[in-house]
Amino acid sequence: MVEVKNLTKFYGSIKAVDDISFTVETGEVLGFLGPNGAGKSTTMNMITGYLSSTSGTVTIDGCEILDDPIHAKSKIGYLPEIPPLYIDMTVKKYLEFMFDLKKVKLPKKEHIDEVMRLTKITEQADRIIKHLSKGYRQRVGLAQALLGNPPVIILDEPTAGLDPMGVSELMHLLRDICENEGTTIIMSTHDIDVVPIYSDYVYVINHGKLLTDGTPEEVFSNP
Ligand code: ADP
Ligand code: MG
Repeated sequence: MVEVKNLTKFYGSIKAVDDISFTVETGEVLGFLGPNGAGKSTTMNMITGYLSSTSGTVTIDGCEILDDPIHAKSKIGYLPEIPPLYIDMTVKKYLEFMFDLKKVKLPKKEHIDEVMRLTKITEQADRIIKHLSKGYRQRVGLAQALLGNPPVIILDEPTAGLDPMGVSELMHLLRDICENEGTTIIMSTHDIDVVPIYSDYVYVINHGKLLTDGTPEEVFSNP
């Protein structure tokens, strides 16, 4: 579903991402683990087409992101590290606004209701985003990423700043969405406790390079 080949990014003379290659199969949850500065956000911004690579390619469902960015981007829902929330809007107004912005071609009311149901924010629909807890704001960010039913969801440090309960709730939501909707999920984290429990497959990255990969059991049983 997602194929990353020899991806490299320089910021001036800084090599932030160094020849990374990997593939993610349909319906898989991929965990991207590494410390701050490892190159996770840079990689995700290249996968989503928000940043061009210095070299290398990203193919989403057979469609290369730089060849056909509009088509490839329509297959991706993205929750960046800092969620793009308009905090003075209500949850519902915000999702309606993002629905229009993304030019989603589905029945508006039904689809927004469905996305709020999947992310369990239906009861928050008329609340102003800035009055919500961090956990609920993250769910609104996730709801925004799900608009248009993209087959791939990319989440950059979705659990940062959440308490353990919030982490567990968000991860269970993601697993449900993955299992029920067949969505492919790529999430990054610097939290070693989150990835092993909830990912099907893990890539560990540092200094822009892949250090190791495997199932959580394989990666974390190695000394
Ligand atoms: P992570 O998300 O894993 O914390 P990043 O992808 O944000 O890592 O950063 C990787 C490296 O690239 C770091 O050394 C960071 O300082 C550098 N970097 C990130 N964004 C920029 C930028 N816009 N300009 C210059 N350097 C950057
Ligand atoms: Mg980051």
